[in-house]
Order: sequence, then structure tokens, then C-alpha cells
Amino acid sequence: MTTGETCPSCGDQFDRLGTHWARSDCEYPTPTSETDEILTGILMGDGSLASHDSENPYMRWNNVNRRFMEFVHEKLKPITTSLKVTRTVRESYRYNEKREDRDWPVHPEEYNDIYIIRTRRLPYFQRFKNWYTEDGKRFPDDLELTPVIAKYWYVCDGTVNWMRDYSAKIQFTSRNESGREEFVTELFERAGFSIKRNRHMYYLSVDESKSMLEWMGSPLPGFEYKWEIGSRSSYERKKKRAHRQRFH
Ligand SMILES: [Zn+2]
Repeated sequence: MTTGETCPSCGDQFDRLGTHWARSDCEYPTPTSETDEILTGILMGDGSLASHDSENPYMRWNNVNRRFMEFVHEKLKPITTSLKVTRTVRESYRYNEKREDRDWPVHPEEYNDIYIIRTRRLPYFQRFKNWYTEDGKRFPDDLELTPVIAKYWYVCDGTVNWMRDYSAKIQFTSRNESGREEFVTELFERAGFSIKRNRHMYYLSVDESKSMLEWMGSPLPGFEYKWEIGSRSSYERKKKRAHRQRFH
């Protein structure tokens, strides 16, 4: 039995695909434009580029939503190389319990396993180098939102804000863009959405929230609750279900 992975170019199996691509005539896979949009959306949110000074940088990101992480790992293979638990519920709980600066109560039920995905090291990832400046990660000036980019950003950095039990707005948080609020506002406007902002928070009206959710398309697995803005009880039920998956 082999534990290797199949090279999309020659069809053979290898334990280390990256090494095979570096040493053979088989080429590094070129991500499809959908993959490109998914990675862009994730980089806007939870993702970060590692080794960005090298010829072969890679991306990694954490998330507590197991179903989402499994889905995206499968979808991006062989660009992604592993999906692991980086910190278990118990570890997260103990870590927070021991923090000396802690002035809040900790409850084990509020913690989740934290999953991490990392990609292969590929020349392709050089295209994201210009996101890294002296001020840290910054959206590049030529960024434009597409439904796919916005959708992956939304599951990372978006939340549902309830006002009444039957009406909610969606909101994006973007701390890394502080000082560039105009730029982020225009990103939404060029995609056809008007927003209100408060520091690094960007709010859509109830109507704009509905149309943006429709524009982004069907919910991503594990994040169905972030598409439920018409009924609070249904939202809470879906959210609970999403977070219950940690007991595996
Ligand atoms: Zn090959």
C-alpha cells in the first residue's frame, strides 16, 4: 500500500510531491482561477504567507470549524499539504486558564480544537508577496472583490449582527487595514455594495446584507449559519450544530 499522493502531471505517486516537482520534468501545478480566488479570500482573513522571502513561499491558516477546514483541504489538494489539530480543546482551555494577564473566566465548553492547514511551498505563492509591507499584511491596491473572494473572506472575518429576532446585518472586521478605511469602503462599493463603518468594522444594511449573501452564493460547509439572517432561532440552531462538530 502506498501512502503517497498522485502527481496531476504524470499520474505517479510520490511521498513528497514538492520534491518530485522540483527534480523532474513535471511542473508545479498552476492553480485554477477559482483556487486563486479562494486563497485570496483566505489571505484577506485568517491566512498568512510564510517564508515570503523565499522562492517558494507557502500559506497557512487556522480555523476552529472542522467541517470547513476539511472541505477546503479537499478542494485545494494538492495545493494544500496537511490539515492538523494545532491545539486541542483541552490545551486551549489550559493555556487560557494559566494566563497571568487573564481577567476573564474560562469555561471549557467555550473552546474548540484549532485546526491548521498549510500549503506546499510553490513559486506560485510569490504573487502574494506584495501583501507584506513594513506595516505587516496589507491588501494590495489592485485587489477587487469577486463573489468567491468575498465568500472566503466572509467566513473568516464576517459575523452576523442581530437586531431583532427576524432581522440581522452582516459585518466584516479588518484590523490589518487600519488607516485604509477608505480603500476597504471602495472595495465594497466597486463590487456594488454600500457600507457603514466604525473603525475597522464594516456594516451592511439589512437589504445590502441580503443581496451580498446572494451575490456570494451558496454557504460554505460548516458556515451555513452565517447565511441565516432571517430567523434568529434557526441561526442559533445552525451555529450550535457547527460548533458541536468538535466532539469527534
Ligand atoms: Zn509527476
